[in-house]
Amino acid sequence: MTGARFVALVAATLLVSCRADSPRKAPPVARHPHTAASREAPFAPSPAASPIPAASSIPAPSPLTAPAAPAAPGACGAMTVRFYDVGQGLAALVELADGRRVLVDTGDDPARSSQQCHGACAGWHSRLMADLERDLGGHPIDLLWITHQHSDHLGGAADVMARFSVGQLVDNGQEPGKREVRHMHDVAASRGTRVTSIGPGNEAAALTSSPSARLTAIVPERWPHACARDANDCSIGLRIDQCASSVLFVGDAQRSEEDGLDPRGHVTLLQVGHHGSDTSTSPAFLARVAPKYAVISAGKRGEGTNAGYCHPRRSVVERLTAELGDAPTGTVASFDATGGCGKEGEESHWIDARTSARLWITARDGDVVLSSVGDGVFLRR
Ligand SMILES: [Zn+2]
Repeated sequence: MTGARFVALVAATLLVSCRADSPRKAPPVARHPHTAASREAPFAPSPAASPIPAASSIPAPSPLTAPAAPAAPGACGAMTVRFYDVGQGLAALVELADGRRVLVDTGDDPARSSQQCHGACAGWHSRLMADLERDLGGHPIDLLWITHQHSDHLGGAADVMARFSVGQLVDNGQEPGKREVRHMHDVAASRGTRVTSIGPGNEAAALTSSPSARLTAIVPERWPHACARDANDCSIGLRIDQCASSVLFVGDAQRSEEDGLDPRGHVTLLQVGHHGSDTSTSPAFLARVAPKYAVISAGKRGEGTNAGYCHPRRSVVERLTAELGDAPTGTVASFDATGGCGKEGEESHWIDARTSARLWITARDGDVVLSSVGDGVFLRR
């Protein structure tokens, strides 16, 4: 890694990957060049309830900052990561020690058809909005990070921006003409939320680190070929470091994208890719990340859209439990992929797999709130 590349990564990081969560074949991805450079803006600490800047007064990207300096023990403050139980989807709020708040993904679209979601999506969304109302406590969301353009990740974004103050929206710049993406961007414009697209070659301009929090986009050097047909493999990842603690979000990145990702070293806490699907969390990727803790955001068995996906997969749960290394303390219903999800006989392929005490699954555990004081340890609250 060159010095310039390292410095660039310090200030902003993206990651890409993930593939479509729709059980139906996704339409070809409409690719377009990244044109967001002129819209990029710094992600600066905002004290509280900062006014949303007018879209017409977007500042130029700020100079990249140095990595977070080593801090004395106890000087790191607390970082809290809240994985919300949004069923089959992802939404996680990170409260940084410097006071900033980062929301990674927004769960599914409450209006998703009952045929696709079996009536569950509206409930998942309303629960998320109530949780955000409580946990934000009137503070703004400084950064809304959309890992990729699938409904179960961006579906709640428009509503989130309409209801809460959001300083900056980051997405992967893909499929700008897709209805949900267009709607998300329209709401951002109407609310004066800055919009930045991040991807290969354009990962260093959107985020600003502070002495206590370093944000890095984790993206491959180029999109994998699979990105053109599967939005999951265009996920943009986000790594946040606070002293000796770190968290990595990978969205729904699958193996073809994982293979091209440099996580910038080991990670303390991992958001398990693609809801625990066996398309992701390859042994090679897991070895590079070497997490101490992990969270799978997945829906309950047979609930809503998860009736068509059967997340998480037994092989991934077992791989993670072996990697995390703590004595198994519980089990979780996980799907053995030797069976067909949604097919006759599916029932017999749901297995209670043993889980490490350092592995949480929202389908079983509900909201998972983890805190660290920068010492490489996360404790559940
Ligand atoms: Zn997903």
